[in-house]
Amino acid sequence: MKNNKKILVIDDDEDILKLIKIILTNKNYEMFTATTGEEGIKMAIQQKPELILLDIMMPITDGWEILKMLHTDENTRKIPVAMLTCKTDVKNKLIGLQEGAIDYITKPFSPEELISRVDDIFKIFEKKGK
Ligand SMILES: [Mg+2]
Repeated sequence: MKNNKKILVIDDDEDILKLIKIILTNKNYEMFTATTGEEGIKMAIQQKPELILLDIMMPITDGWEILKMLHTDENTRKIPVAMLTCKTDVKNKLIGLQEGAIDYITKPFSPEELISRVDDIFKIFEKKGK
């Protein structure tokens, strides 16, 4: 069964991308991945995903910069973005929420945890009628 929701994951760690892809494809989400923010932005414009999972720590352009770019581009500004990171500190979480990220998922996560976070995000957006 397909649930017709597209998710784009942007992360420079290919192992993380593979893992997330396996977990969410299993739940019938349609997955797209990118290993750089620049590639991710192009993919977001092409595929119009319903959700973007965005890594903060990336070598060329970090997740915060990419978040800003996504929010200023006409084509992508309405797509909800959840930040992915290894950092567990509260300060980062606050920055993320201030910058307009809708959630903050800390790595490492269990498959169950990731699925329930993603499902919750979609439930919230469906309630809002988005
Ligand atoms: Mg990274």
